[in-house]
Amino acid sequence: MLIIDCPFCGPRAESEFAYGGEGGIARPLATETLTDEQWGDYVFMRSNPKGLHHEQWRHASGCGKWFNALRDTLTYRFHGTWKIGAEPPEAFTRRVQPAAPVGETVVEGLAR
Ligand SMILES: [Zn+2]
Repeated sequence: MLIIDCPFCGPRAESEFAYGGEGGIARPLATETLTDEQWGDYVFMRSNPKGLHHEQWRHASGCGKWFNALRDTLTYRFHGTWKIGAEPPEAFTRRVQPAAPVGETVVEGLAR
């Protein structure tokens, strides 16, 4: 069983949580000045890294609060969780982007 460490409640079973998509995506401030392409990028474009991924999760069957997580998409291992607006764990700041195979595009997903 996968255990997720809710920063408010502590370690709980994965079945209590809901995935909320990629973390760290800020809504543009002046949306009326965006082009359709820029708005589409904000709404739909997400990174899909092989490795560490900044995500947002909600403790749906617990405290109900949202929080950030750094999870490895290959192993499912959580490298840290932290409250929205709080400083991320050290693993988040020293993460290393894997090199992209030839012919693939590197997506800057964790640097936002
Ligand atoms: Zn909780």
